[in-house]
Amino acid sequence: MTLAQYCSQFQKIRRANGTAFSDLTLKKAPHKPLLLLAVLDMVGRKQITSPFISIADEMTELNALFGSFWHKLMPVTHTSSIGFPFSKMGNEPFWHLVPLPDKTVTKELIDKMSTVSQLRQHVMGAQLDEALFVLMQDAQSRQTLIDTLIGTHFSPEAQALLRAEMGEQDTIFQYSLELEQQAKHKVRDSSSIAKYTVQVRDQGFRKAVVRCYDHRCAMCGTRIVTPEGYTAVDAAHIEPWSVSQNDQITNGMALCKLCHWAFDTGVVGVRTDFSIAVARQIGHMPNAPGFIPTLAGRTLILPKEVHLRPKPENFEWHRKTFSVA
Ligand SMILES: [Zn+2]
Repeated sequence: MTLAQYCSQFQKIRRANGTAFSDLTLKKAPHKPLLLLAVLDMVGRKQITSPFISIADEMTELNALFGSFWHKLMPVTHTSSIGFPFSKMGNEPFWHLVPLPDKTVTKELIDKMSTVSQLRQHVMGAQLDEALFVLMQDAQSRQTLIDTLIGTHFSPEAQALLRAEMGEQDTIFQYSLELEQQAKHKVRDSSSIAKYTVQVRDQGFRKAVVRCYDHRCAMCGTRIVTPEGYTAVDAAHIEPWSVSQNDQITNGMALCKLCHWAFDTGVVGVRTDFSIAVARQIGHMPNAPGFIPTLAGRTLILPKEVHLRPKPENFEWHRKTFSVA
């Protein structure tokens, strides 16, 4: 199959009609083209490196990209995830759902499945045509496929929104890679502060830190990634950005919502040996501090790679400000 033939298939993607869909998406469901745009982006960034897209792996990145495109075009109350188009795309000629051993994928089953959890009960993932994957890896062909999807399935206004969002997401990804490189080479490049917008820095820092901590809270160890790829942790600055302007991974930790709040308010602190201290008064009535008191004396759960771990001196501001540790 040639590039022109795949472009033709991309133009003919079947999309459901619905009153929920506005002129931006030409009054049709945008799920399939948006998922393909996310896949194309990830192939371009070498985050997808084979024509097989496993549904057993964590879908965090793919779902985050899909979600960022989706929210540009759809009202905030209308949510979706990759689960829906990942299965429905099985009706397209270039996207082959690969069943689990002893399972079969029928058209009826494709129509029934709409979540990643349901998919995981029946399929291992999706196999793209080999020839299509080769075209996706080539920058020029990839751009033609992207232009075809955007040009066919969206209004001019939506096309501009999507192109801007794809650019923004690419910059966020590049910034997160820059932060990892700086950590690896133990350098701090402050020029990036002026180079990137606040949104790019926030999201790039989050992406890098959450990845380095593998979605695990450095304090309590909570690690929850939903089948759709949502994660329970935030990226917390150790010395706040407003004080330090420091987005280095060594000034960050992945923390769950409660531990993040507890750290930012000085309910918990970190000693020089990375053990956790807890403010005694939080246990007093009428508080019910949950698991927070059990963190006392525990050691932070940090990345295996030493160069990604926090610099002990970055905790000094926190220690001086809150006097917990
Ligand atoms: Zn936690």
